[in-house]
Amino acid sequence: MKIKRAYKYRLYPTKEQETKMLWTLEMCRFVYNKLLEELNKGKKSKKELQHSILKIKEENPELLNAYAKVLQYENYRLFSSLRTLAKLKNNGKRVGRLRFKSKDRFRTFNYNQYGFEIIKNNTRYDKLWLSRIGEIPFIMHREIDGKIKQVAVKRYPSGKWFASIITEVEGNKQKTNRINSVGIDLGINNYIYDSNGTHFDSPKYLNKFIRKLKKEQTCFSRKTKDSRNREKQKVRVAKIHEKIMNHRTDFLRKLSRHYVNNFGFIAVEDLNIKNLIKVSYNSRNIMDASWSRFVQMLEYKAESAGVQVMKVEPEETTQICSNCRITVPKHLWNRTHKCTCGLEIDRDYNSAINILKRALGQELSESTPVEREPLLAEMQASNLEETGSHILNVKH
Ligand SMILES: [Zn+2]
Repeated sequence: MKIKRAYKYRLYPTKEQETKMLWTLEMCRFVYNKLLEELNKGKKSKKELQHSILKIKEENPELLNAYAKVLQYENYRLFSSLRTLAKLKNNGKRVGRLRFKSKDRFRTFNYNQYGFEIIKNNTRYDKLWLSRIGEIPFIMHREIDGKIKQVAVKRYPSGKWFASIITEVEGNKQKTNRINSVGIDLGINNYIYDSNGTHFDSPKYLNKFIRKLKKEQTCFSRKTKDSRNREKQKVRVAKIHEKIMNHRTDFLRKLSRHYVNNFGFIAVEDLNIKNLIKVSYNSRNIMDASWSRFVQMLEYKAESAGVQVMKVEPEETTQICSNCRITVPKHLWNRTHKCTCGLEIDRDYNSAINILKRALGQELSESTPVEREPLLAEMQASNLEETGSHILNVKH
């Protein structure tokens, strides 16, 4: 089975290269919006729309200076968004229409199959060659594994450029044994506890950045509309946002790597179900988002390492005693599980053991493990997000 992998690198373009990149971005946006306009006039097949790119080029000869495949990609992007939209609709979600993209919402252009090459140097910088743009310096902090299928170039609101390189590798089909298994409790208090009693706290510097973000956001909202200062402040806020995202991603990446390297079977809570448990903190939403990313990373790394990840229904995992199975009711603020059988451990530790037991089917209650979802679809979805070809306008 083929598995997709994504690698992300910061690009350091020269002034001249950056000008070309900005221009390419604009040309792609122009083509995307034109194609959408065509589509709005009446239903068209992918092929028909592909054809109309030629017409658009005829009318706008400067497009001939762009790499043709990069422009063509906008047609794929459009149709892939339409498919996602149709899928959501089929699942009973209320969806909006695709909308025209403003500069702020259009940040990526893509090289698919052709037009790129990695040039390895023996210096600090390697180079990413992109057709019609040139050899852009970058630092390859991670070796690339597999055959490169796609390169997405993204401009962040802070003005930094990144390349997401998507490769394909042969997957490992090896069956896992259930020895060396672990259950993980995803805490609402920013940390993880596992069934071996190991726990990881959220890095302190993250909280520091979050406080800083709040301060700068307040500052932003006080600036006069359309003023230069407001624009400057906007970039400042965006930069902190990116910092938080990077640090958090880094933290989650290390965490998921740790579990995949050390265990053959990993049980986690099914977050979709966990969402139903009402905790009305704002910060809770932030944690949820990063936990689902953590689970995604876990599954993705596990798949190529031949490790099995199972999602289980989290209901009652905090309340049940992991030793004698009786229910020990506790409030959110009760940090310790204290049972009449003599077991006294951290509540999240108790819950992690229950999660593992549930996954291994050692529990006699009516709840059975939830089947694990196919990973590739999820991976593709996250790639979609990663490459910025996000869609919509979805209304719930
Ligand atoms: Zn007990």
